[in-house]
Amino acid sequence: MLHDARYDVLFEPVRIGPVTAKNRFFQVPHCSGLGRMRPRMLAGMRGVKAEGGWAVVCTEYCSIHPASDDLPHPYASLWNESDVKANALMVEQVHAHGALAGVELWFGGSTSNLFTREVGMDVESMPSIHGHPFQSRPMDKEDIRNLRRWHRDAALRAQSAGFDIVYIYATHGYLISNFLSASTNHRIDEYGGSLENRVRLVRELIEETRDAVGQHCAVAVRFSADDGGGEDGVPVQAERKEMFRLLAELPDLWDINIEDYSYEMGVSRFVKEGALEPYMSFVKSATSKPVVTVGRFTSPDTMVSQVKRGIVDFIGAARPSIADPFLPRKIQEGRLDEIRECIGCNLCYACDGIGVPIRCTQNPTISEEWQRGWHPENIAAKGSDAQVLVVGAGPAGLECARALGQRGYSVILAEARRELGGRVTLESRLPGLSEWARVASYRLQQIERMTNVEVYRESELGADDVLAVGADHVVIATGATWRRDAFGSYQPVGNQNLEPQERIFTPDDVMAGKLPEGRVVVFDDDHYYMAAVIAERVLANADSVTLVTSKDRVASWGAYTAEQARTQRGLLEIGCEIVTAHELSAFDGREAAIACGYTGRQRRIKADSIVLVTARRPNDALYHSLAERMAAGVKGAPGTLRRIGDCEAPAIIAAAVYSGHKFARELDGGADDDSDNRYDQVFD
Ligand code: ADP
Ligand code: SF4
Repeated sequence: MLHDARYDVLFEPVRIGPVTAKNRFFQVPHCSGLGRMRPRMLAGMRGVKAEGGWAVVCTEYCSIHPASDDLPHPYASLWNESDVKANALMVEQVHAHGALAGVELWFGGSTSNLFTREVGMDVESMPSIHGHPFQSRPMDKEDIRNLRRWHRDAALRAQSAGFDIVYIYATHGYLISNFLSASTNHRIDEYGGSLENRVRLVRELIEETRDAVGQHCAVAVRFSADDGGGEDGVPVQAERKEMFRLLAELPDLWDINIEDYSYEMGVSRFVKEGALEPYMSFVKSATSKPVVTVGRFTSPDTMVSQVKRGIVDFIGAARPSIADPFLPRKIQEGRLDEIRECIGCNLCYACDGIGVPIRCTQNPTISEEWQRGWHPENIAAKGSDAQVLVVGAGPAGLECARALGQRGYSVILAEARRELGGRVTLESRLPGLSEWARVASYRLQQIERMTNVEVYRESELGADDVLAVGADHVVIATGATWRRDAFGSYQPVGNQNLEPQERIFTPDDVMAGKLPEGRVVVFDDDHYYMAAVIAERVLANADSVTLVTSKDRVASWGAYTAEQARTQRGLLEIGCEIVTAHELSAFDGREAAIACGYTGRQRRIKADSIVLVTARRPNDALYHSLAERMAAGVKGAPGTLRRIGDCEAPAIIAAAVYSGHKFARELDGGADDDSDNRYDQVFD
């Protein structure tokens, strides 16, 4: 099927200096947790995006010289000939599908260089951007000359690796942005002071990059469209507009960002599709060069509107290209209902912060393209005529049934509730989490079309029911339940001092509509988003809410997903009390006793009810009951019995989706992974 003519504009070619992009879909540079550490995995991941129709596919930030490293965050590098070979792997994969390859040359500045142990250098001696106890040295004239030479040499290496677009990275708090900003640049030489002086370095880098590689490669600049400090969606742009005008015609392409990273790529709880539009208002009118920006675009209508209204020339994407590498092709082929829309959870971003390969809640195949030979759209045909029973239609069961169905197996999916989707459907009704529902809706849409997958709602199965089905393989995906005993990382024995039971709540109660009243204490020993969204939900019904966390800040894991600060600020703004570094010691229906995590000193706070957000218990009774019967040689037993998702080990939604996908891939030896590749990072 061909696309609707109203999307034609998205498939027009666009010239970028000496090269031409075949359409307007542009995968902007995004970190991947792969970088220089894992070049083959990286090439596999980027190549699949080119196959999926992206006209431009870029690297992550790519260090130009060992004087700038960022470990443990896996950046790319173009330091030498060996790096040229490593990057060429990605370029080849991208070119094989007719896309352009871009490289984001980067010099961090006040990164602490924990790998190379080179002393960092920046516009002046600055604290480490990662909070390590190392400052950079202030750059003198020779340092600036060296930087320019290193940048030029790296651009030449980029060209020899085959890249088509070479970036100058002038934002996100790295070295060049520190030269641009009046708040960090206090130099009194020709690189500081006036606007002309502060843009001098970036101007030189643009001109020298063009001089070195501009005949063959387009020169792009990643640049912030605001001065920072404004409210969300209300940019302060006094200096930026001027600065932009000084540089407007120099590069071949502008890639526009904003200063606040937690808004630019905010989680969907706080930031919706196309949120950068107010920041972009002046950009196109100030330059004749093509412009790209991001906005977690997944709706083709929004994309068309952005182009037609002259906001952008390219639809920039990091997350939408991760959740669905085939987004452009699906739009082009009129398969809009097959788009796997990003849910804005930022797990992908978290991986780089942790220093591990990128993962995605919606796309279980990301990073596994080379390592396991997994493709986001293709999967091996079934290996037998076996029938598979999947019990539980949460993210694990749904993905398992979908992928098995795609392979052609005969699948029965049984779900106890009327509604499908398990935890994602329930959680999507909590404040700000509506996009979580996409995890279920994408899969249900696919399953509904499959005649070989039968779905039974309101079908809570016991062991006898499962055996009565007589399936060849049984997969138990029955999820997990939030604990009511405060068992968690800080109280591994649970808490015996909690009474009365009817005043003790869990997130499952709240999601089921059973809400605590009066003065409520939410105790968080989980440290991701759940306690905060539960506190917000409960506050609508309660007299007051106090969130007590055993960590030093609310939702501490949310620092990886760029939502921690917004979470804590949001709770304070709606009037939620916050107590950090305290554990829950007792509750008697009138007061909660809490103890300081450092001194053990106790204090009591008024509390009519408590909500425990600590840990979950796998719902594995059905699994164990079946396993016991099979061990005893019961008649009609399935050939295999497996548990997946939260039923096996409670974790994030992405882990449940992955677990369902993995089972489906591997059934009957169907996983098309090459075991020689697995975990082999040797690069030759
Ligand atoms: P996961 O994240 O692992 O997919 P969820 O908790 O989201 O887990 O989903 C588990 C699903 O299993 C829920 O929708 C629940 O209603 C369903 N379920 C639990 N026990 C049974 C059972 N015995 N029979 C059928 N469905 C079940
Ligand atoms: Fe989107 Fe979450 Fe996937 Fe990232 S991990 S691409 S935010 S769905």
